[in-house]
Amino acid sequence: MSRFFSSRHASLTAYTPGEQPQDRRYVKLNTNESPFPPSPAVVAAAAAEAARLQLYSDPESRAVTEAVAARYGVSPDMVLMVNGSDEILNFAFLAFGDAEHGFVCPDISYGFYPVFAALNHVPLREIPLRDDFSVDPEDYCGVGANIVLANPNAPTGRALPLADIERIVQTNPGHVVVIDEAYVDFGGESAAGLIEKYDNLLVVMTYSKSRSMAGARLGFAIGNRELIRDMNTVKYSTDPYNVNRMTQAAGIAAFEDDDYYMSNCRRIMETRAYTTRSLEKLGFTVIPSMTNFLLTRGPVPGRELYLSLKERGILVRWFDQPRIRNYIRVSIGSREQMDLFLSAAADILNTRSGKA
Ligand code: PMP
Repeated sequence: MSRFFSSRHASLTAYTPGEQPQDRRYVKLNTNESPFPPSPAVVAAAAAEAARLQLYSDPESRAVTEAVAARYGVSPDMVLMVNGSDEILNFAFLAFGDAEHGFVCPDISYGFYPVFAALNHVPLREIPLRDDFSVDPEDYCGVGANIVLANPNAPTGRALPLADIERIVQTNPGHVVVIDEAYVDFGGESAAGLIEKYDNLLVVMTYSKSRSMAGARLGFAIGNRELIRDMNTVKYSTDPYNVNRMTQAAGIAAFEDDDYYMSNCRRIMETRAYTTRSLEKLGFTVIPSMTNFLLTRGPVPGRELYLSLKERGILVRWFDQPRIRNYIRVSIGSREQMDLFLSAAADILNTRSGKA
């Protein structure tokens, strides 16, 4: 820390992103990226826009906003496009949180929530998940604070049914409920259809997972007009040109190829079922997942498993965090990538039991 760093941030612990190693080629199953490339139309749209990079991007992201609004059946003033959904989550803490208006979230959830809360000096209370890592919706009904809930949750992979989400939104009319649907396209139920009914609901989605665009940075929020207006006030006070030209063009093209992306999601769900079965055969416990990753625990301590897999060229995520220290999180890649992961896992177990 330099002697110039603001004392406001002296105790801030930054978010640790998943490793992006450059030293060797890994089977990369650590950041929940899609194993499938963007569709050719998306690549072409981004490339064509590169020729116009001397011009600022549209600060309203109008064309892509209209594409998203049409896809989810809402009006464009209920949508805000952002530079990856991380940006909108930060905006939500910035816009709706302060010393008196704190947030709650599960104790095991997306690691960025506590960072955004600390950065914006917003109190955050963590509510323990049940022992099976599921969310107890009762814990959130009439909770008396703003809520941020990933549904499906990360890194557990578990999802709440829409009826539970609706009950949470309904019983907290005086607070904003942010539902982070980064993984909803892998089997979850979206709350986007409830937007017209509740003025306190903000649904956040991303192109990073199901739409193969993690590197383009594109996310969006759908919500009541007033909430979106507040978020725009924050956006225009930080970065009006938050979504670059190539990403806006890619974002439109991606919705035109919805069939391609939804069929990729189905393939990922099939591979998820295959990986779950195979891990269980090896003696692993797998938390039922509605996402493109699995939280799993083997007969080897989590850190050792993570390091042994890394030695064998397989990168997964390990969280040095109470309750999940003995688990690893494995993104669902292609079938070939999962077979490499599974044979490395089997090899580690064999070596350990002295069979190899
Ligand atoms: N929410 C959750 C639950 C996530 O796991 C992630 C991905 N790390 C994000 C939001 C952010 O995704 P992005 O900024 O790439 O849209």
